[in-house]
Order: sequence, then structure tokens, then C-alpha cells
Amino acid sequence: MNIILLGAPGAGKGTQARRLEERYQMVQLSTGDMLRAAVASGSELGQEAKVIMDAGQLVPDELVIRMISERIDEPDCAKGFLLDGFPRTTAQAQALDAMLAEKGLKLDAVIQIRVDEEALVERITGRFTCASCGAGYHDTFQRPAQEGVCDNCGGTEFTRRADDNEKTVRSRMEAYRAQTAPILPHYEAQGLVQEVDGMADIDEVTAQLYKVLDR
Ligand code: ADP
Ligand code: AMP
Repeated sequence: MNIILLGAPGAGKGTQARRLEERYQMVQLSTGDMLRAAVASGSELGQEAKVIMDAGQLVPDELVIRMISERIDEPDCAKGFLLDGFPRTTAQAQALDAMLAEKGLKLDAVIQIRVDEEALVERITGRFTCASCGAGYHDTFQRPAQEGVCDNCGGTEFTRRADDNEKTVRSRMEAYRAQTAPILPHYEAQGLVQEVDGMADIDEVTAQLYKVLDR
């Protein structure tokens, strides 16, 4: 199964993607994670992307399109993939259609996780991640069972994203509103869109997703 998780920054795409990966044998493809890895590596691409990401803007379409196309060609994606954070512009959505047709692949669903904008700043500014395994947490909504210890791997180091600050969040919301939200009609026209209520608690959102994808 190949699906897209759509939703504003902080809607819960990454949190849910990790759960869906396991249940449906799909690989999570997060362009944000790929770009952060490039930034951490200090590559030329990473240096270029860092400035844009820190400003809360979108990196050039060609760059992420190439990144995703190459990633989909890797053998682990043959079992299915879950796109998280891509496509984010109409140009990316069109390029994805063309790329999938060329590779003989198709999308099974596009799932929109709907969240009120007021909730997003709190979600994003409270987000932190295990430095060893990448498991996601939140200061209020998803704390580790034992303070300071990752539930998933027992790691004790956690990180916060450089762009998870209130100022950058506002720019990211604006980019979402102006550039990403308009791609929804593209997929509605293809009859692929399903919606879930992202304001529910994390387990409830997962249950809604299982219901949609089990069909
Ligand atoms: P995205 O990948 O869409 O940017 P994340 O999955 O990283 O969003 O979620 C952002 C933050 O909000 C994380 O800290 C996560 O723990 C928390 N979170 C995710 N889903 C929910 C939810 N349904 N209710 C409350 N907090 C949530
Ligand atoms: P995310 O992890 O999805 O919140 O993405 C973090 C940042 O990476 C965004 O604010 C953008 O600067 C950049 N980014 C991630 N995915 C894309 C994409 N598909 N197109 C353009 N920029 C992206």
C-alpha cells in the first residue's frame, strides 16, 4: 500500500506514521527527516537547506522531488511507502503523479489529518525526540513512562528541532496554508482523500487511521 499523510506541521503525521509502518509493512518517507539528515551531515545540500528550514520556508521543489524519487527506487519501498511531509506544493504533487506513473506505481489513499491551527503551536513547541531511535514525545501530551528514558529503546538523550520555535512555526503554518493546503483538491479530484480528526488523542487518531486503511 502506498499512501500520503497530509496535515499541517504538528498535525501528528510523524507520530502516526511510525505506528502505521509496523501494522501495514510500509516504509515512512519523511522529506523533513531526510533534509535534517542532510543538514547534520554538513553536505552542500544540507547547508543550503538549513537556511531555508530555519526560516520556516519550503526548500526548492526540484530538490525534494529528486530526493523522493531516488528513495522510492530503493528495495525496501517495494513493500509500500507512506509519504510524510511530501508533496507540499502543487508542483510536487504533479511531479509525484508523473514519477509514480513512470515507475508503474500508484497511490492507494491520501489521508488528511485535520487539526485546529491554535493547537499546532503548542504541539510543535512541546515536541522532542529520542536521539537514539527517533521516537517522538511531547512535554504535555506524550511523556515517556519513566522521566528521561525513551519507552522504545531506553535511550536517555533527547533532541528538539531547531525549527520548533514559535517564530518559525508561524512561517511554517503560513507556508502550509499558502502552498500545501491547495494540493488537497488535486487528490480530491482523483477520489483518493480520506479525513481523520487529528484533534482526538493520539491512540484515537491511530484507531481512526486503522479503520480507514483496513477497508
Ligand atoms: P508532524 O509530523 O505532523 O509535524 P508530530 O507527529 O511530530 O507532527 O506531532 C507533533 C507533536 O504533537 C509531537 O510532540 C507529538 O507527540 C504530539 N502529538 C501528535 N499527535 C497528537 C495528538 N493527537 N494529540 C496531542 N499531541 C499529539
Ligand atoms: P517537516 O519535518 O515535515 O516539518 O519539515 C521541516 C522543514 O523541511 C520544512 O519546514 C521545510 O523547510 C522542509 N521540507 C520538508 N519537506 C519538504 C517538502 N516536501 N518541500 C519543501 N520543503 C520541505
